[in-house]
Amino acid sequence: MSAGEAREALAAARALVAEWAEEGLETWERVDDAAAAAPEAPAASARPAAPAESAARTAAPAPAPPDGSRPAADAGRPTLAEVREVLGDCTRCRLHEGRTQIVFGDGAPDADLMFVGEGPGEQEDLRGIPFCGRAGDLLTSMIEKGLEIPRSSVYICNIVKCRPPGNRNPMPDEVASCRAFLDGQIEAVAPRVIVTLGKPAATTLLGREVAITKLRGTWQEYHGIPLMPTLHPAFLLRQYTPENRRNVWNDLKAALDRSRE
Ligand code: URA
Repeated sequence: MSAGEAREALAAARALVAEWAEEGLETWERVDDAAAAAPEAPAASARPAAPAESAARTAAPAPAPPDGSRPAADAGRPTLAEVREVLGDCTRCRLHEGRTQIVFGDGAPDADLMFVGEGPGEQEDLRGIPFCGRAGDLLTSMIEKGLEIPRSSVYICNIVKCRPPGNRNPMPDEVASCRAFLDGQIEAVAPRVIVTLGKPAATTLLGREVAITKLRGTWQEYHGIPLMPTLHPAFLLRQYTPENRRNVWNDLKAALDRSRE
């Protein structure tokens, strides 16, 4: 490891620890140390969207009509396939160097509920599907057993589409490079409600630093779309307390209810 890489790794580790502290981490105990996913890359500072590609048609989604109905499905919005095509075999940031594959997104292209996480972990990188590792299993179970809807009925993606090495935090420039594609996915799916999982996703979409333990459970807005910030399932695995579980459950239930209004 070069001195530069070591400095980068140290900075990422510090940011991770700072974020855990801010998320309320009080102990280092894990639910199952052996199986625990490596801390699933937090971070990414608040940054305005980088208008990377005009071809991705990454303009903000049209605000929902005042009567609450969905905007016309084809109102000049890109399709997910178009956004994916513009992403291509992306080399826009250094994350492409270590990836096995791009992890674009998963689920219904017209989902009412969209989940945005942080970045692929090891399993996601290997399988090309977001949230398919240990944290993903928890998310899937919260969706399917908790909300009682199929995972395939929601749309799930991340703020960066390539795995940060060693699950470190995505750097602000990496988030910025991928931002246009996240915006494109939101525009294409046009969900009724967005749920951000963890601090980095909330920070990225809200465009400001957030204290996730304070913000979670409070309605926010992203370009006219109601946004519910909640805790990241990887954090929940580390801090599997009745309070955290109750909080996340309340957040998800509120999000589902609102998506059905
Ligand atoms: N954590 C994330 O934020 N996203 C994934 O896809 C998996 C784990």
